[in-house]
Amino acid sequence: MSQVRVRFAPSPTGFFHIGSARTALFNWLYARHTGGVFVLRIEDTDQARNSEEFLNVIYDSLTWLGMTWDEGPKVGGAFGPYRQSERAHIYAEYLEKLKASGRTYEKDGALFFKISGEPQIIDDAIRGRVERVEEKDFVIVRSDKTPVFHFVNVVDDITMAITHVIRGEDHLSNTSKHTELFKALGAPLPVYAHIPLILKQNGPGKMSKRDQGALVEEYQRRSYIPEALVNFLSLLGWNPKDDSEKMPIAEIIRRFDLPGVNQSNARFDDKKLAHMNMAYMLEMPAARFCELARAHFRRHQLAAGDWPDGAYFGEVMALAQPKIKAIDELPGYTVYFFAEDYPIDPKVREKVLAKGEPAARLKELIEVLRTADFSSDAAVESAIKTLAASTNLGFGDYQSVARLAVSGTNVGPSITGMFRVLGKDRVLARMERFLAGL
Ligand code: GLU
Repeated sequence: MSQVRVRFAPSPTGFFHIGSARTALFNWLYARHTGGVFVLRIEDTDQARNSEEFLNVIYDSLTWLGMTWDEGPKVGGAFGPYRQSERAHIYAEYLEKLKASGRTYEKDGALFFKISGEPQIIDDAIRGRVERVEEKDFVIVRSDKTPVFHFVNVVDDITMAITHVIRGEDHLSNTSKHTELFKALGAPLPVYAHIPLILKQNGPGKMSKRDQGALVEEYQRRSYIPEALVNFLSLLGWNPKDDSEKMPIAEIIRRFDLPGVNQSNARFDDKKLAHMNMAYMLEMPAARFCELARAHFRRHQLAAGDWPDGAYFGEVMALAQPKIKAIDELPGYTVYFFAEDYPIDPKVREKVLAKGEPAARLKELIEVLRTADFSSDAAVESAIKTLAASTNLGFGDYQSVARLAVSGTNVGPSITGMFRVLGKDRVLARMERFLAGL
């Protein structure tokens, strides 16, 4: 068989959403699985509704998700141009062909295509045999001379030598129009593969751009791990048979195939996505975690993004990585490592101060820590433990007030790691300041 050529054909009329990303991904996976070509084609004939901003979001999101295209805008290719707005000459040529075959007529200024009326049968790679009869002639060029979606879509698939049309099930009802056109133009039909819809998380119906969590750039802004989003998207409608979930992209590519795509609709599940994201984050090498963290802080204009001491930044991130659920928790989780004016949680303060004699504990701790060794977690721990043993109290009696004084909260990494990374001077200064405010 000749080389597979698939295309992702978005219309830049809105922000890039999960459904579009999933369609792009299934095309990309199929191309990579078969050693084929992944084409990006921009269906921007609807001048009034297109925008360059949306176009850039498409490029940016695909790139972020690692779905590089082999042919298309920016990279070129032998079948270009790849934006419909630049292909008017090709549509004119194919329009002449269709006219010459006697399959068109004009009515009320519009150009109509004369259907054959014969049953249109496709052997859909996902849905199996689908038969549909087109019952009415349809417009291919509007009275304002702009060609209609069905016509340009088919002409492009023919002239770009597309072998497999993998797209959302919402286009299944268009397919009989398309096969009529393919046949009228004397072109062989591509293989069709209509992928199931994505249902909204709660309630009935298809997930829409307006649904919570529907936009790809939202995940980008929150610094989700792109590999995790790709892994999650791959499972929205595709089933690797043995219920595998977390898989490296090479394995997804190796195992992905069209018959493995479900016929039933897939339901969006943000908890599953968050969980996948966490799993990828936890196993990520420290260097990559630091890189993503830096980028996240910078994106949100936080000083930590350009923190000059790289070793210190790395130590803070090493404490945080195993403890957080997502990168967007980092600013809150690490605030006191990068500022002295960190917030003190009033509820935690009230609770900690209500129990035992926190001021006395803090005083004892300050005395002991003054001469303690801060070079390792074990050294810090042993200093606090020795103190607790000498006063007949527990580690916890010292820990909660110390944590409150030094970090303003009751959650965080181990207190010994926190002390080691902050260093003796800052820990003592914070404790003294806190004590003075009691
Ligand atoms: N521009 C169409 C869409 O965004 C593409 C249809 C197709 O893939 O054939 O839905």
